[in-house]
Amino acid sequence: MARITLDGIAHAYGPGPHGPKDYALQPLHHVWEHGLAYALLGPSGCGKTTLLNIISGLITPSEGRLLFDDRDVTRLPTEQRNIAQVFQFPVIYDTMTVAENLAFPLRNRKVPRETVAARVAEIAAMLDLTPYLNRRARGLTADAKQKISLGRGLVRADVSAVLFDEPLTVIDPALKWELRSKLKAVHRALDMLMIYVTHDQVEALTFADRVVVMNEGRAVQIGTPEQLFERPEHTFVGYFIGSPGMNLLPAEVSGTQARVGDAVLELGAAYPDLPSDRRTQIGIRPDFAMLAPSGGARVQVRRVDDLGRKRLAHVSLGGLAMIATVPDEMESVGAVASLALDPARILVYRDDVIVEGAPR
Ligand code: ATP
Repeated sequence: MARITLDGIAHAYGPGPHGPKDYALQPLHHVWEHGLAYALLGPSGCGKTTLLNIISGLITPSEGRLLFDDRDVTRLPTEQRNIAQVFQFPVIYDTMTVAENLAFPLRNRKVPRETVAARVAEIAAMLDLTPYLNRRARGLTADAKQKISLGRGLVRADVSAVLFDEPLTVIDPALKWELRSKLKAVHRALDMLMIYVTHDQVEALTFADRVVVMNEGRAVQIGTPEQLFERPEHTFVGYFIGSPGMNLLPAEVSGTQARVGDAVLELGAAYPDLPSDRRTQIGIRPDFAMLAPSGGARVQVRRVDDLGRKRLAHVSLGGLAMIATVPDEMESVGAVASLALDPARILVYRDDVIVEGAPR
């Protein structure tokens, strides 16, 4: 078991990088703690696989050091890093039984027979594979095969970390939610450092204690799912996390007020006058912007979408489009409504980065 330190790790695939655009991964300092589950989350091409491959040893970073505890592993090959990996597609032996597949990483390392049997039984039970232990892997469904792959990744108790690269890709959508929560339970039970790459925010937020949100080669925020939701430090996180994402509206901010189009909103903190040559926006999650019959800011209602579990209203605030939530108790929504905004839920961004306000 280990703590992983990314000490200024960066990677450019081409020689002589000149600026941020030349890096697939921009310099990153962070310590990943033993026992926690991390997700690397971001859109295609943001650098998730590059970072995962640096940790697994498939790529030597062009800058920085990688430490497992105090050991510098930056230039060590994968075999010397003591990690387990689970890939998008099952990596198993078709001719072996499920039990033999699960036992393989342990037998390979000459673990005593009784320890192997006990660990295989434990992991199989966690993944609901017990009834299949004596069946050959050949002929099992793609879902079952991927569960065996997950089991093989989890079976060794002594690894520094388990790395998952989009492991639910081949899983039937109907079973995905089940396996997602199962993986979370497995993580709690096994007390291992796990790193999970995905572009699916639900997978990341369900599984991880800490999510590394990446965009264009940069880790824009590393935080708990709650921090990412409640206090995105960058507009990208506000927009990327949440369904729908955060409303981001151009604003003029002065003191404790924001002017949005021709509407004026009270803010939860006091801000210095922000220079007009910088782009200022306010961010409000649709979940925290509630329509109300009266009081609050006046909005024009363009459309209401009934999503079953919730209703979302597309409204115009001061002439700018945003999305608000229709509370359950509001049965009908007219063409004009009010928007109840908790000032503490309105965040201010300058050039996409959150601005700290002073207490009012
Ligand atoms: P995806 O979800 O599509 O796998 P990702 O977030 O994992 O994307 P990476 O595969 O790490 O992103 O790619 C990051 C950037 O590096 C992209 O611009 C990609 O085109 C580039 N890149 C990746 N591998 C190589 C390579 N072997 N040579 C050159 N450029 C590469």
